[in-house]
Amino acid sequence: MIYKKTIGDILPQVRGKSVLVRVDFNVPIENGRVIEDTRISASLPTIRKLQESGARVTLMSHLGRPKNGPAPEFSLAPVARHLATLSKQDVTFATDCIGPAAAAVAGALRPGQVCLLENLRFHAEEEKNDPEFARQLAVWGDIYVNDAFGSAHRAHASTEGVTHFIDTCVAGYLMERELDYLGRLLVDPKRPFVAILGGAKISGKLEVIENLLKFVDVFLIGGGMAFTFLRAQGHQIGRSLVENDLIETAGRILRDAGAKGTAFLLPVDCVAAPDLSGTGAPTTVGAARIPTDLAGFDIGPRTIQSFASRLKTAGTIFWNGPMGVFEKPPFDAGTVALAQTVAEATDHGSVSVVGGGDSVAAVHQAGVAERISHISTGGGASLEFLEGRILPGVAALDDRE
Ligand code: AMP
Repeated sequence: MIYKKTIGDILPQVRGKSVLVRVDFNVPIENGRVIEDTRISASLPTIRKLQESGARVTLMSHLGRPKNGPAPEFSLAPVARHLATLSKQDVTFATDCIGPAAAAVAGALRPGQVCLLENLRFHAEEEKNDPEFARQLAVWGDIYVNDAFGSAHRAHASTEGVTHFIDTCVAGYLMERELDYLGRLLVDPKRPFVAILGGAKISGKLEVIENLLKFVDVFLIGGGMAFTFLRAQGHQIGRSLVENDLIETAGRILRDAGAKGTAFLLPVDCVAAPDLSGTGAPTTVGAARIPTDLAGFDIGPRTIQSFASRLKTAGTIFWNGPMGVFEKPPFDAGTVALAQTVAEATDHGSVSVVGGGDSVAAVHQAGVAERISHISTGGGASLEFLEGRILPGVAALDDRE
């Protein structure tokens, strides 16, 4: 149960009303075609429900990072076409998100119809959270629905500013699901709560680690970030990735975890090679004694086994970041093995949440995405949420009484 009003609270009152929906349609486009549509299909339940309930639905989104106003390669027109195909209906498209072009399209909607506005970021005022721009967006909605969890950590005109000009502002189904699953990690998680953290570096994830220390029973650390912790323990890590300026911080985190009685597992072995060129054959070496001419690029078999034994008994699992350079076989083996173990644990009753672009790619690569309890659509937003921060796009929504 989340503490913000959601779409379920407003359905009885949407018939004939204009509903402005912030979606995250920031999808990859090549030669004018959408090549990956997870984010679009993730918002379909919200769009469909509003249409079925008789709302006039106006969708708005950003796409990429256009720098100087409108640019054809950042147009949402291909997304409107894709959405029309996906949802088997007409989706009208407005060539601007404010002004007469938007009025002609959004103003012409009949109950049950849907339109998409052009890229919000064609106006620099969007990211500046300019109140006048937000007011011009607000014209398209009697009611505002935010279904763009991936953008909720930014206070932009379409995620925050607009809510000052519309009386009723609620979360869409996708946003609700994200807040529900991520919220449950921080409020009364099923124990033991195991966090798997990986990826290249500790920097950028420091605050998450520190905040999760309050909630987590077991940390499993892999990827490049593990070597800074191993270094802090005085181990020899060869040519592996290390953040020298964070060795002291890593040492402090290890001591904090020890003082709290939180298990903090680092790799005991790793798959190492001279570099990623593929010329030197990979070998498995002890993680505490990596030869000076080698770098660790994946967790080794003993580590996989030790991590798996913790995951099998987990009540809750959160995973962010790959265990190795999973884009380059054979260094994907550790990440794929853990993805499979997380799926098996979920089959046996664990609640599993995977967040962050690379870990999401990894569960797809391992073919287990369907078996994960929740795959977060917002990498940055999910990390900020788990840092304990208030997301401006969530704070701006109406509280549930
Ligand atoms: P991040 O964006 O911090 O989650 O990092 C993801 C990246 O970390 C991926 O591109 C991986 O290839 C990389 N990575 C994971 N493990 C290692 C490692 N042992 N050495 C170098 N890079 C790694």
